[in-house]
Amino acid sequence: MNKATTIGYLQLDGKRAWKRALESFWQEKTSEEALHQTLKTLRLHRLHKQESYGIDHVPVNDFTYYDRMLDTAWMFNLIPARHRTNDTPDVTEYFAMARGTVDAGACAMKKWFNTNYHYIVPEYENQPLKLVRNLPLEAYAEAEAAGITDAKPVLIGPYTFVKLSSGFNSLGEGLEAVLPLYTQVLAELNARGVNWVQLEEPYAVTDEAEADAESLAHVYETLSEVAPNIMLQTYFEAPAVYETLTQLPVAGLGLDVTKPRTQKLLKTQGFPADKVLAAGVIPGDRIWKQAPAQVETLLRFVEETAHPKALWVQPTTSLLHVPETKTHETRLSQTLYDQLAFADEKLAEVKTAASRTAPAETTHPAPVNEHAAVFAGVDTHRGTNADKRRVAQQSFQLPLLPTTTIGSLPQTTDVRKLRRDYKQGELSAAAYEEALEARTAGWIETQEALGLDVLVHGEFERNDMVEYFGERLEGYAFTDFGWVQSYGSRGVKPPIVHDTVHRPEAMTVKAAVHAQSLTEKPLKGMLTGPVTMVNWSFLPEDQPKSVTAAEVAEALAEEVRDLEAAGITMIQIDEPAFKEGYPLRAADQAAYEDWAVRTFQRTHRDVADSTQVHTHMCYSQFEEILEAVGAMDADVISIEASRSRGKILEAFADGQFVNDIGLGVYDIHSPRTPAVAEMEAMIERCLDLFPAERFWVNPDCGLKTRSEAEAKASLEAMVEAARNVRERV
Ligand code: GLN
Ligand code: ZN
Repeated sequence: MNKATTIGYLQLDGKRAWKRALESFWQEKTSEEALHQTLKTLRLHRLHKQESYGIDHVPVNDFTYYDRMLDTAWMFNLIPARHRTNDTPDVTEYFAMARGTVDAGACAMKKWFNTNYHYIVPEYENQPLKLVRNLPLEAYAEAEAAGITDAKPVLIGPYTFVKLSSGFNSLGEGLEAVLPLYTQVLAELNARGVNWVQLEEPYAVTDEAEADAESLAHVYETLSEVAPNIMLQTYFEAPAVYETLTQLPVAGLGLDVTKPRTQKLLKTQGFPADKVLAAGVIPGDRIWKQAPAQVETLLRFVEETAHPKALWVQPTTSLLHVPETKTHETRLSQTLYDQLAFADEKLAEVKTAASRTAPAETTHPAPVNEHAAVFAGVDTHRGTNADKRRVAQQSFQLPLLPTTTIGSLPQTTDVRKLRRDYKQGELSAAAYEEALEARTAGWIETQEALGLDVLVHGEFERNDMVEYFGERLEGYAFTDFGWVQSYGSRGVKPPIVHDTVHRPEAMTVKAAVHAQSLTEKPLKGMLTGPVTMVNWSFLPEDQPKSVTAAEVAEALAEEVRDLEAAGITMIQIDEPAFKEGYPLRAADQAAYEDWAVRTFQRTHRDVADSTQVHTHMCYSQFEEILEAVGAMDADVISIEASRSRGKILEAFADGQFVNDIGLGVYDIHSPRTPAVAEMEAMIERCLDLFPAERFWVNPDCGLKTRSEAEAKASLEAMVEAARNVRERV
């Protein structure tokens, strides 16, 4: 019998009580007092829940009001000047940093490693740091008062915290600033009689950690002097600095032992005999039930290779990345339902695995290679070059610097109500379609009046760009309560791919043809690309991600063919999640790029030269991925360019990038109408790098979250900017 442990639990519950509590406070419908009370109830509930499943050392301080990086910054008084209103920060500062105020923009938000969760980036401005509140200690005391005596306070480790913050000139400077605070937190925990504390260092799995090994060692040598037993927890990959970690004076090391790299490290380098090994054996970021015999096989492998002082059995990651429980789902087939394990089901799996009662299998199952090659021996490329196509596509007769949008137009309350009424059966299919067509017709007129050169139908039928296609493809399933936190109180319900994906019938042709029939101007058909479709879904566990992407690509290729045959000869295939999906380790990137590029290529391989293919990516650090983006070979790629005021284009100019570029000239996330002169200046800066013939002008993403008035005002300014520059070149 081993200990059954968890790294952390989720906050966005299936019924979304946590989200409602926050949002009702933000809308000033409930008091601060009521907010604290409701969240305390939820917090204690989950502690007791984990306890009732038999979890040892239940984690505390993993529960947050918004984000754990933010919690840590706030508790250290790391508050940007623009958000500070009180000497001693309280919830006002906390939510100002998270969400911004009328006067001050929020702190930046970034992707949490290779997940779809986004954290708040703390901003160091040389402000004096101090420990405002010892949150882990408070959480521990609260658990103790509730009868849980051996709770494990958890917090993001100093190394990862500094690496993910902004404003420190160096790692050294950052550690110097925060290490005394961590020391104080841990010393107070120790004085309180805390047994174990978990410090999370996911940054130690990145390639960069190799260069930081010395600092990492310094941190833990310092902290171990004052702290309770430290469980140094890693996740998402094997540590890049395994040797360093094994030599640290910490009491335990947490590893994802399902990763082939970790298994190799255990085999070749062993494990220190004086440490507890917290073995991640139940995938914390996937949703499939594990066969007990396979888990037992893995545990035996770990024991035989590692010989740790003690073995803890746990999920590979925090349960933040999966939904709460499958038990309220009623729409799933029995077969699928039986195969699933969400967070609560995983608690049971951990307990079962730790009881060590399952028989082992004789053979160790080979790990699935996420990034396996697909389309071997198939030529996925269109087979012509951009210049030749550019000539064929002159038939569109577009002006210089053509203007367009990214696809979605404002989804006002009445549009969302239409979709809801239809889904609930209160509106017939015919009435629903008619209402959507009317909405499109109105916006075709508006787009023409605004003077846009290439129009869109508006995507009013789509709640979500992945869900919409998932619902029309076979092989996908959807949950009712399968929420996963994306950032703050926002959640997504990722679709579940559980079978071979294919397309029973056309998905977008009717709406596109209808919209095109209303205008002489070209209209773009709108699809979601294969890479985004897989990066934003839960995928089958026993097959590589690339295989699902290839199936989706074939389905999309059919859709592209049908659109083209129906006269829609400008087709946009969105890939906002292309960059997001990059693996954490540089060594894995070539394999990812191979399948990602080839599946995208496959979607448009068969079209005529005169058909123009667009793609769209949001903010993507293009410097790092330009070769792959070039290889995707869409005729036009629209990108986010406004944050850097066009500077991002320099990356494109350096490389061999031959396609056209849609400049995302303003930030759609802001309700502010962009200034015409600002956009003009930005376009002109880009004209120094490429001839005007290579550029389009567009917003930096879809407009679905904007009001109609905001969208119209911004587009009007954008068209004016494009026209002004057009006259000058
Ligand atoms: N076509 C989509 C839209 O406009 C693209 C969304 C995205 O990039 N996330 O909404
Ligand atoms: Zn976008």
